[in-house]
Amino acid sequence: MEDCIFCKIASGAFGTEFHYEDENVVAFDDLHPQAPVHVLVVPKNHYANIIDGVPAEVLASMAKAVEAVAAKTGIDKTGFRCIMNTGADGGQTVMHLHMHVLGGASLGEGLIAKA
Ligand code: 5GP
Ligand code: ZN
Repeated sequence: MEDCIFCKIASGAFGTEFHYEDENVVAFDDLHPQAPVHVLVVPKNHYANIIDGVPAEVLASMAKAVEAVAAKTGIDKTGFRCIMNTGADGGQTVMHLHMHVLGGASLGEGLIAKA
């Protein structure tokens, strides 16, 4: 996926600081944060979205990354929101699977906030 920005970031091509990394995923700050903590959890391999045949071990790594990021930033104590925008109606703008992890302030009670 030569033209995919998240493939490039996840490969380390830009020297991005990773909050978490394992064999399957990386986690790094969103370029345009929508909350005091706004981290993206991104698989190293390219999947378009959550319904693109994502292997169980990649999903497990994404969960581990969320846990690590939450502990590192302190939002494990205060709460946070995980969002995976999917496709056109979901408002997905980068077509490489990613989970937004948002916290550090009250995000309100809405179930469907756009990150
Ligand atoms: P989506 O709308 O697809 O759910 O979210 C894409 C997210 O990727 C947006 O929050 C946007 O700010 C972020 N983003 C887009 N390009 C870059 C980039 O080059 N670097 C980083 N760190 N985040 C990006
Ligand atoms: Zn990609």
